[in-house]
Amino acid sequence: MRSNPSEFEMVAPGSLQAIVSLLAKEPGAWLPIAGGTDVMVLYAAGKLPARKLISLWNLPELRRIDVTADEIRIGAACTYTDLRMHEIVGREFPLMAFAARWTGGIANQNRGTIGGNIVNASPAADSLPALLVYEADLILVSARGERRVPYVTFHTGYKKTLLAPDELVEAVCLSRRFSGYLSHARKVGARNAQAISKVCISALGRLTGDVVEDVRMALGSVAPVPLRLTQTEQIVRGRSMDSALLLEARKAAIAEIRPIDDIRSTARYRAVVAGNLVAEFLRRLKSERTRPERDPAKDVLARWNLLPTDAAIAAILPCCGSKAWAQGMVTRRPMADESALVTAANETWRSLTPSDWMEAFNSHPRIGESRAAQSPLAQSVAWSAQEQRNVVDTDATVKSALSDANQEYERRFGRIFIVCATGKSAPEILEILQRRLKNDAETELHESAEQQRQITEIRLKKWLEG
Ligand SMILES: Cc1cc2nc3c(=O)[nH]c(=O)nc-3n(C[C@H](O)[C@H](O)[C@H](O)COP(=O)(O)OP(=O)(O)OC[C@H]3O[C@@H](n4cnc5c(N)ncnc54)[C@H](O)[C@@H]3O)c2cc1C
Repeated sequence: MRSNPSEFEMVAPGSLQAIVSLLAKEPGAWLPIAGGTDVMVLYAAGKLPARKLISLWNLPELRRIDVTADEIRIGAACTYTDLRMHEIVGREFPLMAFAARWTGGIANQNRGTIGGNIVNASPAADSLPALLVYEADLILVSARGERRVPYVTFHTGYKKTLLAPDELVEAVCLSRRFSGYLSHARKVGARNAQAISKVCISALGRLTGDVVEDVRMALGSVAPVPLRLTQTEQIVRGRSMDSALLLEARKAAIAEIRPIDDIRSTARYRAVVAGNLVAEFLRRLKSERTRPERDPAKDVLARWNLLPTDAAIAAILPCCGSKAWAQGMVTRRPMADESALVTAANETWRSLTPSDWMEAFNSHPRIGESRAAQSPLAQSVAWSAQEQRNVVDTDATVKSALSDANQEYERRFGRIFIVCATGKSAPEILEILQRRLKNDAETELHESAEQQRQITEIRLKKWLEG
């Protein structure tokens, strides 16, 4: 250890508001530290210029993943483990989950955060190419307020960002519009884990017949900043996939990048590998498209569209728990695909009365329990058990705190606490419950309804799997 701990000061104000106030008083004086996996490497090497550290670790405001109908908002202090475990990240943004899975080892994934990866601004960072292809936005926050910037503008040069000295990254926003794409990622390094990439790729693509309808490719470790291959994409988009196009794309990618020699690799090796990775992705895009497609979701929907009314209501009811909602859904048949189903579900849910909402709320067991107030359906019981998996395994202290907070919630609002528990740990749920106990009745009713909407959406997608 080449640093002397007595020379350093570290504070943990514990709330985002307190942190941005302190940063505003002395802009540039405090270095934020989240998981510390990059900061502590510099500290151990005696290369950390800052002496005053301000902790963002486990800050509730930055450690949450919020899902709305249009986008997912990932708090900057979410760890790779949080990302790996999150159902919607895994299903709709697999490139983020892949990158999380191969960043460092398990210990690193438990501490390293997405915000730290972004601000550390390494061109070799594994999650950043994924942010480019998903066209992520960043929410930056300071005492002056929030601003939303496209991630593609954030890295202004090697290890440079547009973050002001009093600003933090608060969240990463990803638009939920990439269903139907082939997702492809590859990391080329000395090993798959615990090795920084020599070159990495994140890519999305969609073909119509043989023609490339859309393609998005980004590479890491081939330029001063993570690089979206916009020129190569332009060449490929709208063209038929054949061997001539593969050759053209490979050449275009090599022309677009600016690799260097460093301790991990050479510019020449990186250029060859970058071309190979682009060609590999495009070949896969073609071969997966030419395989006969079987979509289990379409089979489930086709069968449900034909069921008699009562049977159709019974089949879809466990996804929500409200009979009025299930009836509303059945009257909107036939439904063509998952997207039509989810849109109908959201619209039907919003058209219901609070008493219909209550019926859905009551179909769930309390967080930490297995029995619902009203006699639930077998499928609903099974899904509740999956959704609350993390709570069942938690320790007795958190369980008991949850039980107390549940009772307080029921005394205050007269119904059970509803939260979309999928992918959330028991302490996270406890923190949300304690925060929501401070809501007024109207705000809380609508927050519960939004949580139920999210639960329904996740259940519908499971239901479609057959
Ligand atoms: C053994 C090991 C293996 C690794 N392997 C990989 C790998 O395979 N792939 C890869 O991409 N990375 C890898 N890393 C790098 C590292 O784990 C990631 O960059 C990680 O995401 C950093 O997050 P953190 O929370 O630990 O950041 P910290 O170290 O806490 O902070 C990093 C930088 O970001 C700033 N910062 C953090 N959060 C914020 C915020 N919200 N707002 C403003 N500034 C902020 C800090 O001030 C600091 O400048 C590895 C690191 C180690 C030690």
